[in-house]
This record gives sequence, C-alpha cells and structure tokens, in this order.
Amino acid sequence: MQHRVRSVNDLAAFVVPTEDERAAIVALADRFRFVITPYYASLMDPEDPACPIRRQVVPRLAELDDPAGLADPLDEVAHSPVKNVVRVYADRIAFCVNNECALYCRYCLRKRMVGEPEWAMKQRELEAALAWIRATPAIRDVLLTGGDPLVFSDDKLGWLLAELRAIPHVELIRLGTRLPVTLPFRVTDALCALLERHHPIWVNTHFNHPKELTADAAEACDRLTRAGCPVGNQSVLLAGINDDVATMKALCEGLVRMRVRPYYCYQAQLLEGTAHFRVPIERGLELFRALRGRTSGFAIPLYVLDTPYGKVPLVHPYVRGREGDDVVVESFDGRLWREHNPR
Ligand code: SF4
Repeated sequence: MQHRVRSVNDLAAFVVPTEDERAAIVALADRFRFVITPYYASLMDPEDPACPIRRQVVPRLAELDDPAGLADPLDEVAHSPVKNVVRVYADRIAFCVNNECALYCRYCLRKRMVGEPEWAMKQRELEAALAWIRATPAIRDVLLTGGDPLVFSDDKLGWLLAELRAIPHVELIRLGTRLPVTLPFRVTDALCALLERHHPIWVNTHFNHPKELTADAAEACDRLTRAGCPVGNQSVLLAGINDDVATMKALCEGLVRMRVRPYYCYQAQLLEGTAHFRVPIERGLELFRALRGRTSGFAIPLYVLDTPYGKVPLVHPYVRGREGDDVVVESFDGRLWREHNPR
C-alpha cells in the first residue's frame, strides 16, 4: 500500500504513458483519486494503452466527456438511514465501512465517495451504524463494503465482525472486496483465521478480465475457500475490456477453475465520467445469450442492472409465451420447444 503508483512518474516505471494518460492524470486529479498497487500495475501491458488492466485504472481524458453521467445513479444517499448504510431491501444492507480501496477503478459506482476524506467513517460513525443495525431487527444480512473492508487492519476488521456477530438478528455477513484481485497478498493466513471465527461469512470479489486471474490471485481465493468462505465474483460489463464472448467465457471459466462462482455481471451504470465504458444493454443480452449452452451453467453470471428500486435481471426472453395448453420456450441454440403445461 505504501508503494502504490500515485503520479505520472510512478506510472512510467510500469508503462509508457500516452499523452492522453499524462494529461488525464493531471486534469482529473481533483475529481477522482488515482492510485494503483504495484502488483496490479505489474499486470499492465507496458506498450498497449488499450490493455484491459490499464484501462480500468489509468485515467483517460474521455472521463471529462460524459454529459449524461450522474454522481449517484442509484440514489444511495437517499437510501441511507445513517451515514454510509444503504438500505434498498427490507432484510439487508450495504454497510460502507471504509472509503478507501487498494486502487481506484475508473468506473467505480461509488466514485462520489471512495478516496474522498469526507466519506471516511470515524469510529463514532461506525458505532452509530452498528447501533442502527442493532435497533433494526429486520436486518439479517449485512454486506461490508466501501471502499474495501479488507483495507482495514485485522484488529479493526475483527472488532467490527465481533460487534456484528453479537447482534442476534444478523445471520449473514458478506464482504465485498477487490483485494484478491488488486492486492492478493492481503489475504493472509491470519486474516483467514479471523474470518473463520465469525462464520457464516460470504465473500464477493471483483475480477473483470482473464489477465487478472494470476497465480497470486488464485492462491488468495484458495485461502478464502479453504477458510470456509464461499467466494463469488461480481464483474462489470465494460466496453473494450470484457464485452466480447471469448473474453467473458475465458473469465468465467477461469473463475470456476479457481472455485470462484461467477455471481453477477453488472450493466455499467449511468455514472459520471464513464460513457466510454458503457455497453448497450441489447449487446449485453446477446453476449450472455451466446454463453448459454456453451459453458457450464454455473459459470454464467446473472447479468443485472442495478436501479434505485433494486437489481433487475437482464435476461433474454427464453419463455416465448403460451399457446393453448402449451408454453413455448426457446433453447440455447434458438430451437422452439412446446412444453405441455395446462393451467
Ligand atoms: S475496488 Fe470497488 S469500491 Fe474500490 S474503486 Fe474499485 S470498484 Fe470502487
């Protein structure tokens, strides 16, 4: 963390920065933090500015050109009963315990808050959020997110997990973390032993491209699964990074080989500075339709659009409709089948 890339000069140790990248790092300095771990930077192609790793984390001038983009497209601030607790569903919350990440993804949904000091959680604010959870018996599932909860020290994370575990109605704790992808060495034996003491803990991480599936990342996921944490992956559909069938298939099959379940693939939100990442929903539907029947079913994540009203599955309409006592369905390769299904 101390040796992270923070400037054009630091970046030049890993890649040959383009004029666009150099200008964007300066022009966007006040808008969204630029930091990359040396590990993740080492995955970047030094010569190719279109490298899918590089595009995720190095600023581009295109970020200045997005008239439709919003700061908070999911209206999360309006869904917060207390600071940094987002409640969209009755029984579960996203608890943004931290405003820091190991690096900052240029398409981050929470770019309004991550890396911004005003969104840091002071101890008394964490305690206020815990008090709200304690006083709200409907909450059975708590997602610790941010930022990234694994940026916390083991001591601080251990305190938080113990506080949550002492609340009888909190059945499930989830960790949303990108550190297995961006700083896999954070997943130490000591961290895994800590998580094991507070089960059930489910982990969702965030791989977007097969280049991220390194031996170090696989080891981090293996340590988590051996510690009894089911590990899922939530990717984002990103133009020019993973929006073609071959790349998405390689990502999903690689994840499954690492025993990481592809869970969701998010449609990129209408978020400020991200027009160059967005893929039309119709193309996303075609992409996931093309995977169906061509790889293991559990290797295909659910393609979803998050909205202020909750997640909406984006699925090709395989059920074509009713004809008398039959329901007509479409197979993965486009053939129609009439299933006798009287009402
Ligand atoms: S790791 Fe997650 S929260 Fe942090 S910048 Fe990336 S997408 Fe945002």
